[in-house]
Amino acid sequence: MAKRLKPGLVPGLFIITSIYFALGFVNILTALSAIFCMAIPFILLSKSGKKLWCQHYCPRASLISLTGKPRSRWRTLPTMFTDGFLRKTMLWYFGLNLLFITGSTIRISIGAMEPMEHVRLFIALPLPGPLPQLLATPLAVPGWLSHLAYRFYSMMLSSTLLGIAFSRIYRPRAWCAVCPVGFLSNTVRKRNRLGLQRQTEDLLDIVGP
Ligand code: SF4
Repeated sequence: MAKRLKPGLVPGLFIITSIYFALGFVNILTALSAIFCMAIPFILLSKSGKKLWCQHYCPRASLISLTGKPRSRWRTLPTMFTDGFLRKTMLWYFGLNLLFITGSTIRISIGAMEPMEHVRLFIALPLPGPLPQLLATPLAVPGWLSHLAYRFYSMMLSSTLLGIAFSRIYRPRAWCAVCPVGFLSNTVRKRNRLGLQRQTEDLLDIVGP
């Protein structure tokens, strides 16, 4: 029988987020592992039908739980967190970011643009220079690949900073109310449930109640 997980996040996962950002100073190509962080929640969801990532395994949720205010100082979330406005805004931001990342990486690969080898926060705020690299890659790395790694690193850093800010201003997991991954997981889950309900209705139509 499958072992039941204890409620709440697995302890200590915030270390994964810290290691992710620290590794950017060792070799920026490690930032490409963000692709797995974005894929795993949906793989778990498709396998289990549950939001296992959000409930137990999310390293960012672990980090903001740690940085957040104590319960006695929690503040009520503003309406824009709960009425869907900020959730949709963040989804647009996330979508546009991915679009820019894909477009610029393709342009660099065909020689139409120079790679941007620096961190850029919130799409628009460049930080000076490339990150120090403690471990050089033995083979020559194509410009588009290091560009892609910097773009993922920037996206992860921007959203983590926002999550930490929300955790300090309002309450630890305020970011989860607007997180695009959480929002998309909810949408997929609702669709799956609806699909299952429809399949059952269709079956009942065929075989009779
Ligand atoms: S909503 Fe986002 S930040 Fe919160 S647990 Fe889910 S994936 Fe992690």
